[in-house]
Amino acid sequence: VARERHTLIVSRVQSIAGLLAGLTVVWIVIDSLTMSWPLWGVLGIERVIAAITFLMLALHRFTAGTAKAAYCAAAALVCIPTIFFLSTYAAFWHFDYFEYSAFVTTAYFYAPFLIAVGLSIFPLTVLESALLATPTFAAMVLSILLWPESLGFTSALATLWRLALISGIASVAGASQLRFLMSLVEQATHDAMTKTMTRNAGEQLINWQFAIDERKSSPLAVLFIDIDKFKSINDQFGHEAGDTVLQKAAQSIHASLRRQDILVRWGGEEFLVILPETDSAGAETLLARIASAGLGLRPDGMPVSASVGIAERISDKAPDWTKLVELADQRMYAAKGAGRNCYVSGGDKMGCFIAENTVCTASQVVDEGLLQGGTAKLAATDRAAA
Ligand code: GH3
Ligand code: MG
Ligand code: MG
Repeated sequence: VARERHTLIVSRVQSIAGLLAGLTVVWIVIDSLTMSWPLWGVLGIERVIAAITFLMLALHRFTAGTAKAAYCAAAALVCIPTIFFLSTYAAFWHFDYFEYSAFVTTAYFYAPFLIAVGLSIFPLTVLESALLATPTFAAMVLSILLWPESLGFTSALATLWRLALISGIASVAGASQLRFLMSLVEQATHDAMTKTMTRNAGEQLINWQFAIDERKSSPLAVLFIDIDKFKSINDQFGHEAGDTVLQKAAQSIHASLRRQDILVRWGGEEFLVILPETDSAGAETLLARIASAGLGLRPDGMPVSASVGIAERISDKAPDWTKLVELADQRMYAAKGAGRNCYVSGGDKMGCFIAENTVCTASQVVDEGLLQGGTAKLAATDRAAA
């Protein structure tokens, strides 16, 4: 979410800065037609300076996705027009302008309000919006203090109050945009059925994690988990029963993971577990924990089993994440070939996954919710016991 938000803020700032660079210069024509000389000339110089800074902001190469880039870009977008506003205000104070240009000067006077409203198009927290509105407030207060006669006390207070109201509404709009963005990112990165990461998001995460662990010379292990004989569940008990089994398996794996581990639904009934800073031995320990918790039960009451491939960045000399996952996938297939319900790790190490003597009791079946819809084919005695 943070990365998407920072990228979005920078790209919006740069598009607006580009637009403002053009508009600021074009407006010199309107000033020249409606204002007296030398006022429009002075404003023209100020406009050219503002346009150059807007253009520099629009063309600057920010580091993608960082908080610093987003804050710097947004602060610059607020500060450039704020300083421009103060300088134009000074120009209006020092040079005469005739009545005819009053409506154009009004546009200048409302610049701080436009900046405050403009903040609403960014996905910001309320605090960030308040901080970004501060320079505009400061400029407004400064202009009132420097040229107190221009507004009068009551009018100045009313102006500040109006600015505060507009900033408040803009910050609510910004916060609701942020919430909307968060729900979009959540939808795009999480599989709706199993609540695990989607493959797309998983690929991005393992890409970054691989780079981080490579820089730190830390190990990075992955588990490629493929549920055994899953198709037979669909064939015998229907897709809904298959979905329930998948959800339960994902929940169960997730419950055994540590905070930093990432569970990805790699394919239909295939999961990839990314284990940062974990070597092969650590990955096997974690797999044993997953196995002891189990992956839930099949509708026929038998424990769900899976075939697992384990690969690790350093010991397997993987040059990039794709090779690491490919290796884990190949080992998963080797585990299938060896008769399923087992894992294969580096150096052709192999072991059993779910203990074969795991028995299913009727009460377990009820706990797992597998009797729903009458899909579970339990023995009559078990059903009675349940
Ligand atoms: P193996 O032990 O060799 O892995 O056998 P398998 O039956 O698990 O493997 P196979 O690849 O033949 O079948 C996977 C099945 O998973 C096929 C597909 O219909 C099913 N599947 C994929 N996604 C979903 C899903 O979201 N829900 C359900 N119910 N089934 C799914
Ligand atoms: Mg499969
Ligand atoms: Mg399978």
